[in-house]
Amino acid sequence: QKNAQLNNLRFELASVQRDQRSSPDDLPKAIKMVLDDNALEMRYQPKVDLRSKSIKSVEALVRWPADHAQSVATNLLIDTAEQYGLIEQLTIQVFNKVLQEAASWESMGLHVVVWINLSARLLALEQLPKILERLLNVWNIPASAIGLEVTESAFIHDIEHTTALLFELKNLGFRLSIDDFGTGYSSLAYLRRFPIDELKIDRVFVQGMISSKQDKQIVQSIIGLAHNFGLSVVAEGVEQESTLNTLRLMGCDEIQGFYFAKPMPGQDLLNWCEEFNRHIVERL
Ligand code: C2E
Ligand code: MG
Ligand code: MG
Ligand code: MG
Repeated sequence: QKNAQLNNLRFELASVQRDQRSSPDDLPKAIKMVLDDNALEMRYQPKVDLRSKSIKSVEALVRWPADHAQSVATNLLIDTAEQYGLIEQLTIQVFNKVLQEAASWESMGLHVVVWINLSARLLALEQLPKILERLLNVWNIPASAIGLEVTESAFIHDIEHTTALLFELKNLGFRLSIDDFGTGYSSLAYLRRFPIDELKIDRVFVQGMISSKQDKQIVQSIIGLAHNFGLSVVAEGVEQESTLNTLRLMGCDEIQGFYFAKPMPGQDLLNWCEEFNRHIVERL
């Protein structure tokens, strides 16, 4: 136990030192360099479809380069990129890498929809649909093979503008999901206003279900709400079998979480899907 405590302390000190070494200005500079080197890495986490017991889609998650001297958590990377006007460049790089990988899966016979997280700030970018359309053309991927996950915070600013942009993206063929549903400034008005396909329940509620009756009721309510509006519903952050079983009984459509898989490099996905079909599917 003492060793564990010492290790914790060492870990905490190391992170304090890291914070001190990088002054607030160093991080945006480091991000800019990584972006210019096209060095961001992507990981992919499967979404398990409970009804068909198959993998129909994966979520792309960006990672700071593993071989870099510094280590930067994804949330901090995204927040800083947003704050320093680097999020547009980051997003284009992410799309480019994901579409390239999607094209290579397609050529290996692996057909999955790839969900990409879209920062709320991007919905203010007038040229976004045009840019994404161009990237799709470069890699010869149909928009219907790509989903966009947007958090509720994207909707609170310019509602008129956001609505128009979401319709434009929808008309191009992209699927749309509301990420971290239930944690933001939820307004049920979006459900009829925006052309969305899916709600993604925040993992705070999914993990809270284990100990909290209220969280369980929230999850059940979101699933009911989604289905009443004809939307598909995904639970993120599933780590335990008991959570999986509860969600299945509640009628949740898709499950994502460490219980099945952590985010993995793109080149591992085909093998993992084969492994899923051979063994993991028995756990369902
Ligand atoms: P998110 O989109 O809500 O992604 C879910 C986060 O939960 C991911 O963290 C994922 O690795 C983690 N996760 C998945 N399953 C489990 C589980 O069973 N247990 C636990 N404890 N965690 C789980 P990650 O990869 O650090 O990403 C954090 C956030 O950063 C994402 O939240 C998303 O909002 C943002 N993000 C990630 N990649 C991108 C990107 O390419 N572009 C943009 N704009 N944002 C991104
Ligand atoms: Mg997401
Ligand atoms: Mg989420
Ligand atoms: Mg999140």
